[in-house]
Amino acid sequence: MKITEHIKKADGKTLFSFEIIPPKKGNSIQELYNNIDPLMEFNPPFIDVTTSREEYVYIEKEGLLDRKVTRMRPGTVGICAAIKHKYDVDTVPHVLCGGFSKEETEYLLVDCHYLGIDNVMALRGDAMSHQKYFSASEGGHEYATQLVDQIKNLNCGKYLHDVIESNDCTSFCIGVAGYPEKHLEAPSLQTDLKRLKEKVDAGADYIVTQMFFDNNKYFEFVEAAKEIGIHVPIIPGIKPIAIKKHMQLLPQVFKIDLPEQLINEIQNCKTNKEVRQVGVEWAIQQSRELLAANVPVLHYYSMGKSDNVHAIASQLF
Ligand code: FAD
Repeated sequence: MKITEHIKKADGKTLFSFEIIPPKKGNSIQELYNNIDPLMEFNPPFIDVTTSREEYVYIEKEGLLDRKVTRMRPGTVGICAAIKHKYDVDTVPHVLCGGFSKEETEYLLVDCHYLGIDNVMALRGDAMSHQKYFSASEGGHEYATQLVDQIKNLNCGKYLHDVIESNDCTSFCIGVAGYPEKHLEAPSLQTDLKRLKEKVDAGADYIVTQMFFDNNKYFEFVEAAKEIGIHVPIIPGIKPIAIKKHMQLLPQVFKIDLPEQLINEIQNCKTNKEVRQVGVEWAIQQSRELLAANVPVLHYYSMGKSDNVHAIASQLF
């Protein structure tokens, strides 16, 4: 079932969902199940599974370094199918521009269709770790809008190069990313919002936000989005802070601000266990306010570990 249908069916009740990352290559999927199992009591209508793009690894060979391209966490679509089958829940694979040609994307979407996956999250992806700026892969898309276009075309039976009569069109519900504190490359929040509007005009059905720690950023973002004509659901993404290092890491990687009060509370912690508790309490407080504002879904970034998301959800759902 589509995310938009889940939201409609909930009839104003806020839903619970979360995002997981595939295990590192060579690790068992059981690890993921162990983290999903405790969260199923909160009835998530859908679970997102991230995709990580390829990276370089260097292997020493006869005194020289041989550069190989690898994916450290493959298996997004397989995991989506496995989870859907095991828990009877909708799954949302994240589909990236970076690292994929349009043809590879088409095949991935065909796989999703055959597996009964109804939703996809269309993302550009980031630059590779050695690159300063994102650049499109050979034969790939430059921006998420183009990926939305491709998925929308497929929904109309338009494949890339073939003129075929399709009697079994896909009907993907398409999610895209939104940034309450603007995307790090965007020259301004307003420009970024216009780009977001382009994604919605191209056919995106809903938006999931980047993490934020001050709800006012989300509320202002939703208002500003409405003002420029974005009327699809905007799902807030919540990340519980888990380690002291997040205080530097999150602003550095995602260009987001942490509120002073949160910084002070983290600074007062002596151990990461205490930081984790602060993160849980902050997320509960954020979630309560968002629930009171009737947001469609509270979407948690679990990063594969469910104990803190469980502690939060058990206070709310
Ligand atoms: P876009 O919408 O393409 O925007 C990227 C930048 O380009 C923005 O600054 C935008 O303003 C600008 N822009 C857009 N269109 C144009 C244009 N036509 N001309 C000029 N500028 C333009 N990353 C992963 O690798 N894997 C994941 O699974 C993943 N999941 C995510 C889930 C969520 C909810 C979010 C918020 C992010 C996720 N990301 C993931 C990170 C995401 O890939 C990065 O933030 C990436 O840098 C931007 O992706 P996007 O889809 O927002 O890009």
